[in-house]
Amino acid sequence: MGFECVIFDLDETLYPRQAGLMQEIGRRIERWVQETLHLAPEEAAALRQDYLRRYGTTLAGLLAEGKVDADAYLAYVHDIPVERWLRPNPALARMLDTIPLRKVVFTNATAEHARRVLKALGVADRFEDVIGIREVGLRSKPHPASYRAVLDRLGVPGAACILVDDRPINLRSAKGLGMTTVLVDGAPEEGVDFVVKDVLEVGPLVARLLEGNPGKRGRPPRG
Ligand SMILES: [Mg+2]
Repeated sequence: MGFECVIFDLDETLYPRQAGLMQEIGRRIERWVQETLHLAPEEAAALRQDYLRRYGTTLAGLLAEGKVDADAYLAYVHDIPVERWLRPNPALARMLDTIPLRKVVFTNATAEHARRVLKALGVADRFEDVIGIREVGLRSKPHPASYRAVLDRLGVPGAACILVDDRPINLRSAKGLGMTTVLVDGAPEEGVDFVVKDVLEVGPLVARLLEGNPGKRGRPPRG
């Protein structure tokens, strides 16, 4: 199977964790949970951790338990001047230009948030599609249905895709759909084919994959 697409996660994949933007989004998520569900800060934090563990995202947990107006939630948590946390990254733009495959962004945030982030990074014109949570029917990664919606939209099988994400849990379910998985800034574990320290290493890795000589893999799945 030849590769056709590279699917990039957005937050803390196309820019580093140290940028601090996700921490700000996390603060807004906790404030929303506190105010809307009338919880003390420590109760809101505990609920969020529980939802992250059981559902993958806070929104997925709120939706599963019927506790959210998704539009109001998404507007509130992403109401952030992202330019305060991000700068244009010409090296990222150059790396993306070296990849001779279709490139898309798929995020659990909204497509509008993703476009603002891509613009702040100076790479908005490098992707053929920006797929947010609404475009996949509010089904968050890592739910396999979210990836099936993406594959349908792109018109490709999982085996034609390379997925780049900073969360191993997101890669594991994509691996189950046949994707080749790349973890950014983490440790090898089940479901992770390759690990890179920085997203800039994805370009050279894709080049090696296309040559059929990718080198050392992350630790293979057990069993
Ligand atoms: Mg991420």
